[in-house]
Amino acid sequence: MTKRVVKRKQALSFQQMDLSPAMAKNLVEIGYHKPTPIQAGLIPLALEEWDVIGQARTGTGKTAAFAIPILEMLDLNVRPPRPQALILAPTRELAVQVEAEIKRLAGRQRINTCCLYGGKPIRQQITRLRAGCHIVVGTPGRVIDHLNRKTLDVKDLWCVVLDEADRMLDIGFRPDIERILRRCPDERQTMLLSATLPPEILALAKRYMYRPKLINFSNKNLSSETIEQFYINVPGEMKYDILVRLLEREKPEQSIVFCRTKLGTEKLYRKLFKGGVFTAVGTIHGDMTQPARDRMMKKFREGKIKILVATDVVGRGIDISNISHIINYDIPELSEDYVHRVGRTARMGKQGVAYSLVTPEQGDALTAIEQTINCQLKRDELQKVVDEIRFQGRDPKAPKPAKKIKSRYRRAL
Ligand code: AMP
Repeated sequence: MTKRVVKRKQALSFQQMDLSPAMAKNLVEIGYHKPTPIQAGLIPLALEEWDVIGQARTGTGKTAAFAIPILEMLDLNVRPPRPQALILAPTRELAVQVEAEIKRLAGRQRINTCCLYGGKPIRQQITRLRAGCHIVVGTPGRVIDHLNRKTLDVKDLWCVVLDEADRMLDIGFRPDIERILRRCPDERQTMLLSATLPPEILALAKRYMYRPKLINFSNKNLSSETIEQFYINVPGEMKYDILVRLLEREKPEQSIVFCRTKLGTEKLYRKLFKGGVFTAVGTIHGDMTQPARDRMMKKFREGKIKILVATDVVGRGIDISNISHIINYDIPELSEDYVHRVGRTARMGKQGVAYSLVTPEQGDALTAIEQTINCQLKRDELQKVVDEIRFQGRDPKAPKPAKKIKSRYRRAL
């Protein structure tokens, strides 16, 4: 199978990228008038068939950066279609979102896509694969499953994308990814997108990519430019009350409240829901069934859910432009995850605000976050309320009164 060969000129605007008339027209229709920096950097290289490592955070338009060249180079003459491009994503939600963006970019072109992820009956996916598709998006586990069952044919693949590669390695997908890459044709184009480039990613790239071009758009300060970030130092037992006050004060258009564990997420959700103060509350975490997660994401996207209590399962990639507030009810274990969580707001240059509830023991973790984003979080006004309750009018900075010495010791002195 051959790819459509695309010539390129200097890539600055979409018009200057020599895109097909159908793609150019569709981009205008969907309101993509100017490429984002990652698109301006990546699309021309991808069209020239280079292997590319794109370091970019989510919300910068990176999906279109790899999807546009793939769509442009697909061979649509083969019938029935066989998979030509495979995109691996760390979570089901992200895979679904990537597929939706591809369909949007394909516009009226008749491109068949198939999304493979666990938690859904494999039969439906097999039927869809059999019907023929050009582009497959999937999570590594389910893709392996299909490879083992021989229901996914990869011999005509000419492009593999590893989206959110650092996250895929974090959650232990490395062996699966390597297995998949080994089964794909050697002569292929590989694109790797990652917010960070730790040594494991570079090792993977060295092993499975051919002379990759590196483009870096991970502006660490980006988050501090468009997202106002605050913290409140609050003891664990006061967190819930402060969260309620915060939500009442802020009245977010839509918000995600992040918790660290699945159990903690479920508990907080129930408390908020039963509290009755907020009506449009939902939750999403890994203990829910896939259909329940899908329903919840749909409601959140449609704006029917205003407050989503979630684990880091939605910490990456999820793109909903109305999210005005991110609240870290529990700060993340890894400071890198902080960047991803707050990146759910301020999408495509919109304004956003992030609050983190930090317990007195988590000072070091707060510092680590500040070092990662290279900026200091501001103290929120609610800190006064917390301090008032905590210290009941006592100045916390005043020296503590000397402890009374019990009389029998005093006698001994
Ligand atoms: P991503 O980083 O791929 O999750 O994209 C973030 C959001 O930006 C998505 O809603 C895209 O539809 C949107 N987007 C991507 N590229 C452009 C562009 N060139 N112009 C306007 N919106 C874009």
